[in-house]
Amino acid sequence: SPPSNSVIIVGAGMSGGFMAAKTLEEAGYKDFIILEASSRVGGRLHKGNIGGHTIELGANWVNSGGPKSSPSLQIAKKIKLKTFYSDYANLTSNIYKQDGGLYQKHVVESAVRIAKTRDAFCTNLSKILSSETTRDDDTSILGSQRLLKEVPMTPLEMAIDYFFNDYEDAEPPRITSLKTTYPRNQLVDFGEDSYFVADPRGFESVVHSVAKQFLSHGHQVIRDPRLKLNKVVRNISYSKDKVTVKTEDGSVYQANYAIVSVSIGVLQSDFIEFTPNLPLWKKLAINNFNMAIYTKIFMKFPYKFWPTGPGTEFFIYAHERRGYFPIWQHLENEMPGSNILFVTVTDEESRRVERQSDEKTKAEIMNNVLRKLFGNKIPEPQSIFVPRWWSNRFFNGSYSNWPNGFTQQSYKELKEPIGPIYFTGEHTNSTYLGYIDGAYFAGINTANDLIKCFKQFSDGHHI
Ligand code: FAD
Repeated sequence: SPPSNSVIIVGAGMSGGFMAAKTLEEAGYKDFIILEASSRVGGRLHKGNIGGHTIELGANWVNSGGPKSSPSLQIAKKIKLKTFYSDYANLTSNIYKQDGGLYQKHVVESAVRIAKTRDAFCTNLSKILSSETTRDDDTSILGSQRLLKEVPMTPLEMAIDYFFNDYEDAEPPRITSLKTTYPRNQLVDFGEDSYFVADPRGFESVVHSVAKQFLSHGHQVIRDPRLKLNKVVRNISYSKDKVTVKTEDGSVYQANYAIVSVSIGVLQSDFIEFTPNLPLWKKLAINNFNMAIYTKIFMKFPYKFWPTGPGTEFFIYAHERRGYFPIWQHLENEMPGSNILFVTVTDEESRRVERQSDEKTKAEIMNNVLRKLFGNKIPEPQSIFVPRWWSNRFFNGSYSNWPNGFTQQSYKELKEPIGPIYFTGEHTNSTYLGYIDGAYFAGINTANDLIKCFKQFSDGHHI
């Protein structure tokens, strides 16, 4: 029979494989294994490459300048990861009309003023709703805009609204819960200054750094036999004090407990079968929450044809179709001479570009956007990179988002253990959900809950 405090951790991202495992290890509970589906660690921290330059397919920014210090920023600083301040200050001069040509600065400025009024109204309404602690009253961000009688309508207004909301939440204001989203704790606590990680080692090196503290035994590489890669978990059978985990390659592992750190998207997909079935209340909590999709489409060109120099890093494209290739960024500060441009899309637009071929996306971007903005003589991109988080069965999306209508009670149920199975992941941290820092704290919290359970159990035996 297995020793009494053994744990199987499913997933080697920031929350499970690293922070939960590290917390267990440091508390003296070393009897765990980590089963990771892919051939690498880091999960949604994942570097890619375009034309010899390292790009981030997943998480990219750390926050700075707030009253608290973000753990992901602390680790990034410790390992001297190269980060670059993202300067959004000049955006009012860089918003393009649907058929080309810039909006006049004063027109944009007055639209931004209104967007800031909306933002302030949202923050205030959220405060009022939160102070009524006994009620579940909430609304969507759009609901709040309707209350103010300030719903974005024109392409310009929609583009600015997208920048304020979708660009952060990866879902439209129609969907996102006001009460749990405004104000965004990540920005209030850790600061509104965004630093863009651009380092050849990749943002994933922050998880390597955590891992090396306890999984490398003094070596330069992670070489702990407890970490098992290419182990795709497909079935978790459980009774009161025993868990049996089966992987796609036919391996079977047993322990007393499990910590499941896979994304809420993976939990929704039934990719992992639980035996017995999870109770209905748990399944409802899982399926009523949202996994949003956020896609950075990278393109490498033979030369630059977009504005460069101070105040040009970002530009916005305002289209009548909300979220149509809206937010653009060049990497001249980070990687001079790289000639890389990338555009961010979310939600339905992400699904659409994931389903169509990269060739088609490339043609669409060139014909419908870039040629309109910069003329017909611009060169074709030499390559295009479209990350596919939604179609990837190990993620099924990018990060969680709290939908309007999802109650605090349901949120508790989302992370509630089922017998010996504990849940973690960015989606289980109500304060910083969606962010690396959320995953960081989630892993620590879930491991501590489990340790509490170990202690209760052993106390029970002594009495
Ligand atoms: P994951 O990293 O998903 O870890 C779970 C692990 O489980 C994965 O390694 C996965 O392969 C594995 N797994 C899945 N299924 C199975 C299975 N069946 N068996 C075994 N293993 C399995 N955060 C920020 O702070 N700043 C940002 O700028 C930012 N931008 C982002 C942009 C994008 C495009 C994406 C995708 C994410 C972004 N995030 C950002 C969010 C951040 O990356 C995540 O919140 C965080 O990395 C999640 O960590 P996790 O441990 O909860 O989950």
